[in-house]
Amino acid sequence: MTRTYLITGGAGFIGSCLVRQIIAEEPATRVVTLDKLTYAGNLDSLQPVIDEPRHRFVQGDIADEALVAELLKTEQPTAVIHLAAESHVDRSIDGPAAFVQTNVVGTFTLLHAARDYWRAIPSERQQAFRFLHVSTDEVFGSLGDDGAFVETTPYSPRSPYSASKAASDHLARAYHHTYGLPTLVTNCSNNYGPYQFPEKLIPLMILNALEGKPLPVYGDGLNVRDWLYVDDHCRALRAAAERGVPGETYNIGGNSERANLDVVRLICRLIDHLRPDLPHFPCDSLVNFVKDRPGHDRRYAIDATKIRRELGWEPQRTFEEGLATTVAWYLENGEWVGRISSGDYQRERLGLAGES
Ligand code: NAD
Repeated sequence: MTRTYLITGGAGFIGSCLVRQIIAEEPATRVVTLDKLTYAGNLDSLQPVIDEPRHRFVQGDIADEALVAELLKTEQPTAVIHLAAESHVDRSIDGPAAFVQTNVVGTFTLLHAARDYWRAIPSERQQAFRFLHVSTDEVFGSLGDDGAFVETTPYSPRSPYSASKAASDHLARAYHHTYGLPTLVTNCSNNYGPYQFPEKLIPLMILNALEGKPLPVYGDGLNVRDWLYVDDHCRALRAAAERGVPGETYNIGGNSERANLDVVRLICRLIDHLRPDLPHFPCDSLVNFVKDRPGHDRRYAIDATKIRRELGWEPQRTFEEGLATTVAWYLENGEWVGRISSGDYQRERLGLAGES
């Protein structure tokens, strides 16, 4: 094996995509997934790789100092790709403590253990080692009608989620500047694609629209997000882990700004197109404008020039292509969705004895 990646949060939406992609496309890479399996962690999303000999799944908390130190020592990873987090803004408003615990304390614990591990390995392996911290564009705050976030945009987080991610980004950079740990940070825009937990905008709208249920849209529906297909994000993360310069930050974006209301209307059109046999519900009659989220950022946009220029990455899918693939996936994978709705995906994981 030429590489071993320790991927945290690998049972989540983006992490599981990354694990599946690496195992499928890199025959000489081993992956160790560390995931606590919170409500957002789903072993069903790792089903394609769960029996693969180059993959090992470990259930555990990134804030568990002893477990993380032991895992680094036994697995000897060439890189850590850190995605484990509490990730849902609305949940951070209702219960911010878990966000501080996992995103700040957990990231700190992982960084510190990685520092000690890195100090103990031979110098040629020290030089090759990378700690990639995966973050969000939400740390930059809200934009007006023009402009886009660049890597040097000052931080201005406005929700407990983005504040906790901002704190963890600072810690990752501090571990580079203070201790020399080869950390990199990526800040990415909103992801969408298969296997996303149905609390997030796009899967929620797809599933509600299919059943003719109300489509809850915050405020006037004109908040703008930049959308990136999850596979494209995972390719960017692999480029950063392989070729990124320690100490650097890379913004990742899809160049696909859309108002939330336009996203919802496109989902309705795609469902009508893909499944003309299903009952047709007029989209605008389903849209239900609900009270705006407190502190709701108006617009995010990412300037991804640096990663394109320096690492040769760019998105392979347009938003329209990616969304059509995503809607089709949810139409074809009712079982994956059903096991979340019924809670079965969690019942089984509770019986998991630490590892599989
Ligand atoms: P997700 O909520 O789908 O998955 C998070 C995973 O982390 C879950 O599998 C969960 O079980 C695991 N986890 C949570 N707490 C843990 C802990 N203490 N120890 C170990 N595992 C734990 O999130 P996602 O959407 O896949 O996002 C992954 C990362 O990418 C996050 O760091 C997020 O901030 C970042 N990000 C997400 C987006 C997006 O649009 N989803 C955009 C940019 C950046």
